[in-house]
Formats: sequence, C-alpha cells, structure tokens
Amino acid sequence: MASPTVISATPPGQYDVAVIGGGVIGHGIAWEAYRSGRSVALIDDAPGTGASWAAAGMLAPVSELHYQEEELLALMLEASRLWPGFAAGLGEGRSDASGTGYRTTPTLAVGADAADRQALADLRGVQQASGLAVEPLTVREARGREPLLSPGISCAFDIPADHQVDPRKLLARIGELLARDPRYTAVPRRAAALRWEGGRVSGVGLEGGGEIRAGETIVANGLGAAGLQGLPGGLDLPLRPVYGDILRLRVPQALRPLLRCTVRGLVRGIPVYIVPREDGTVVIGATQREDAPSDPGAVSAGGVYQLLRDAQQLLPAVAELELLEATARARPGTPDNAPLLGRVARSGTGPDYEGLIIATGFFRHGVLLTPVAAAVCRQLLDGETDPRWAGFRPDRFSIRPPGSSAGDTTPRDTATTERKTA
Ligand SMILES: Cc1cc2nc3c(=O)[nH]c(=O)nc-3n(C[C@H](O)[C@H](O)[C@H](O)COP(=O)(O)OP(=O)(O)OC[C@H]3O[C@@H](n4cnc5c(N)ncnc54)[C@H](O)[C@@H]3O)c2cc1C
Repeated sequence: MASPTVISATPPGQYDVAVIGGGVIGHGIAWEAYRSGRSVALIDDAPGTGASWAAAGMLAPVSELHYQEEELLALMLEASRLWPGFAAGLGEGRSDASGTGYRTTPTLAVGADAADRQALADLRGVQQASGLAVEPLTVREARGREPLLSPGISCAFDIPADHQVDPRKLLARIGELLARDPRYTAVPRRAAALRWEGGRVSGVGLEGGGEIRAGETIVANGLGAAGLQGLPGGLDLPLRPVYGDILRLRVPQALRPLLRCTVRGLVRGIPVYIVPREDGTVVIGATQREDAPSDPGAVSAGGVYQLLRDAQQLLPAVAELELLEATARARPGTPDNAPLLGRVARSGTGPDYEGLIIATGFFRHGVLLTPVAAAVCRQLLDGETDPRWAGFRPDRFSIRPPGSSAGDTTPRDTATTERKTA
C-alpha cells in the first residue's frame, strides 16, 4: 500500500531532506522525496556533469545480465517495471510525452563473427534460464527491421524489454519540475561533511562555510561519496572509477532513420552499442577502462577508434555520420558491481544511524536504476524497508569495531576498515 503523503512543516533554512549530488540518482531521489510532500535541498556545484552526462540511457536489464548477478537482476527488473510510471509522472503539463526521450522501442543484439554468435547464444541460455525473453532472428529478419545493418552480421536476437531514455533530458526535466516549487531548493555548492547532532546526522556542511540542516541526508554524489568527511566511523564505501568513452553523432537527412531500435553488438568479443535518439542523432558507446587518466574527462583516442571501427562493421553507414561530441566520464564502480543503497548500521549490526541514507555505486546501471533508487529512498524516509534489497546495504563491505557509535565522525581514511568480500 502506498504511504501517506507527508506535509512538510519544517522551519525556513531547515529541510526535510538534503540530497548531496545532482546526477540522475540525486535528481530521481529529490523528485520522489518532493512528490512525497517533503521539502528538499539538492546540493551540487556542477549538477548533471558526472557520469550521468555521458550515459547512453539504455534501460537494459536483459542485455546487461551478467553471470552471478541474480540479485542485481531483480533490482534491474524492478526498475524496468517502474520506468513507465516514473516517466509518466514527469510528463505533467506536456503534450510531447514526458520530455525525457523515454522510448519503449526494443533492442537488437547482433554478432559480427561466428565466435560472437556463439557468445550471444550462450548468453541467451543464461537470460532464458532467468526467465527473460530473447528471441533469435535470421539475418534477413533483422535487416527487414533495420535495413542499414550489414549483411555480414553473423546473428541477431530480439530483446523487447530493453528500452531507453535520454539522461540529459531526464535531468533537465526533473530540474525544471522541481524548480517550480518553493519546497525545493537547488544549492549550487559542494558538500564537505556530514553534520552530526545528538548521535544522528543533522545536515551537511558546505565547502567554504555554511550548512544545510535536514531531517534526513541522502549521500548520492556518485564517486564523490567516499571522500565526504563525517561518514560513520569504519564505513567503507569501496568505489572505484571505471572510465567510459562515448560518441554522439548526427545522422544526415538522407540516412534517417538510421535505426529504429537500439543495436547492441559484439564484434570479435568486444561490446559496442548504437542508440538512436528522436532528434536524429545517435549515441555510440562505450568503452570500459580502469586506467588513471591525467584529466578524468580525457577521451581515449584508442577508445574512439575502437567504437567507430566496431560500430561501422555492424552498420556501415556509421562512416557517413557527423561526429558531434566525444565524451569520457567515470562510472562509480563497486567490488560486486551492485549499488550501495540504504541506511548504515551502527557497529555493523546495531540499529541504523538516524538521518542518513547512502545511494551510490550505480556503476553501469544508474540511469536504469533511477526509479528504484528513488523508490527505495522514499520507503526509507517513510520508515519502511523492503527486505528484497537488503543485499545492497551500503555497509556490506565494512566490518566495524564494536563501539563505533553515532556521531563517530572519524574520517573514513583513518578508520579501521576491512573488506568482507573482494
Ligand atoms: C560512458 C557511459 C555510458 C553509460 N551508459 C549507461 C546506460 O546506457 N544506462 C545506464 O543505466 N547507465 C549508464 N551509465 C552509468 C550511469 O551513467 C551511472 O551509473 C549514473 O550516471 C550514476 O549516477 P549518479 O547520480 O550516481 O552519479 P553522477 O552522475 O556521477 O553524479 C554525481 C554528482 O555528484 C556531484 N558531486 C560530487 N561530489 C560532490 C560534493 N562533494 N558535493 C556536491 N555534489 C557533489 C557531481 O557534481 C555530480 O553531479 C553509463 C556511464 C558511462 C560513463
């Protein structure tokens, strides 16, 4: 049953909820908290410029299934189930649907050579064992749907449940809706530290001085979360940057539509995808590298070469597109590829710290997982927990010594920490 709407009665300068981080996750959570009737402050000095700026926006629980990630699959499927309602909720007052580029066109998985065909067929076995629909097509059938696909592809599979949204439009739309209401405040500053009072988190200290006071603080600043001061002593947020290069290209009028649905390919074992947008552009992505570039936004020349080479093998017309943009950003990765989502227990197993929720580590799936992250946070704000998502608790990698207590704001890098899993 849906929880009752909270009517905010907080004094000025104090918010029901402070969200640190204005990527898709922070925006999604802020939107859901606002919709629940709460006053919300979203703190970010550069909203929308992190991983969310680069993301292709594929909502792809089926194609993104990886071996031994069953619990994550359940979360991804729940997100997929929530997406139509989430997009519809953003459509208020618009004639052009939600204004987010949300599209329910299917995805085609295609292989380049015989080994790619075998790999995709093997993956289909795993997908089917998980109850997911993936149907083989002949090359002729695939080209009937997408005439510009190369006749040389080795195989094709139809994946009807994998959709897409435009993350940049999504961010803009949520920001636009929130900005209309005085219950929402965008704070264009960097968060420096969590503030504590009486053993609970009472808000956020800002870089350069000042603070935002809040009943609940949600840490949703992607890779920046681990560097926040004042996290509970011993809490280990093992985030690592996994860089990705991605391209945006314009399709000349004569070639439109280049594609009707998203194409995900395997080319000599290397994944590549081509996502068509409503505005006549396409997104080609994405590499995955764990190097340490001198500039975190630096685009890899080898990455761009690989993307264009492989995309062109599947879709020769790629060579005729106009290159608009090459972008690189880091995904917030975790050791088990799953998010760090929920409240934090005192001493590892004690009652949860009050006033604090963590929502980071969304790695390759943050756009897909936005509605479910927002829903989980809303439940926690309402005092409920869903046992299905207990495995994503943010303290699962932390073993904290007995005696770690509320208000123990030992900086994370000096606290005693130990990984539970690799
Ligand atoms: C190339 C590429 C392609 C991708 N494609 C897809 C895809 O198709 N589908 C999908 O589901 N996912 C995709 N992803 C993954 C997805 O982009 C991420 O999982 C998602 O964007 C994470 O969102 P976030 O809000 O947690 O983090 P971010 O978008 O990184 O946002 C973090 C925000 O926090 C802010 N911040 C940091 N520190 C502070 C601080 N101290 N105070 C205040 N603010 C702070 C930053 O300014 C930033 O705005 C892709 C990622 C990449 C790199």
